[in-house]
Amino acid sequence: MPAADGAQTHFGFRTVDLDHKQAMVDEVFHRVARRYDLMNDLMSGGLHRVWKDIMVTALNPPRNGRPFAVVDAAGGTGDVAFRIARAGGAGTHVTVCDINPDMLAVGRERTKERGLNGIVTFAGGNAEHLPLRDRGFDGCTIAFGIRNVPRIDVALGEFYRVLRPGGRFLCLEFSTVDVPGLDALYDLYSFNVIPALGRAVAGDPEPYRYLVESIRRFPKPEAFADMIAAAGFRRVSHRALTGGLVALHSGWRL
Ligand code: SAM
Repeated sequence: MPAADGAQTHFGFRTVDLDHKQAMVDEVFHRVARRYDLMNDLMSGGLHRVWKDIMVTALNPPRNGRPFAVVDAAGGTGDVAFRIARAGGAGTHVTVCDINPDMLAVGRERTKERGLNGIVTFAGGNAEHLPLRDRGFDGCTIAFGIRNVPRIDVALGEFYRVLRPGGRFLCLEFSTVDVPGLDALYDLYSFNVIPALGRAVAGDPEPYRYLVESIRRFPKPEAFADMIAAAGFRRVSHRALTGGLVALHSGWRL
């Protein structure tokens, strides 16, 4: 859907036309796809694995053979999907839906290496109009993806649409550090160390500058929780992880 005339949003610290943001985001992930998983480990010191495991524990896929379908939106290289598939039983199936063909290509290779073909499958698609049927999923997850989506409210509406009644939405996103002292350290690390790491490891600091800036622009957890509720979700809650570095948001379609 085209933006209303003049509608603007943020791409990191820059103000851009709403309709232009997606192409800029796509360019970032096109540039980082091959180094994405390595950089995640380096930048978070492996913590992203812990945060993702906490989300999968909250999702609680059944260990038995009961059918359990999950869509992992903006699922990139499949990291969350693999964790869900490992945690769940024989009936668990995860559809990774991501807009970026380069991220999906890495994800498909990793799926094959892990012997998860048929358990984790991939679909190209925009979170703002998921190519998925209404009420077809028991769970919908998104990790570090929602802040990249230009129209967050539209995407939340889509997550609601594809969940069956009783289905759960879970979202991991960077948040606001709330531990005195840690905030200054976090600023120093984010604005200096992360772009330098990007230059050293991936030969390109720009995507990592965007990463840091986009985190700062994302709504505070309370405001984002209000957006989740406005999309129709009930029993909306959020919990801070690692001193507020990350928030895990939850909502149910009832
Ligand atoms: N969820 C994965 C993880 O945690 O490892 C990948 C997160 S990565 C930071 C953000 C992902 O969002 C990228 O793979 C990007 O292609 C995807 N993305 C950005 N805009 C999107 C959109 N509008 N619809 C679907 N995916 C999108």
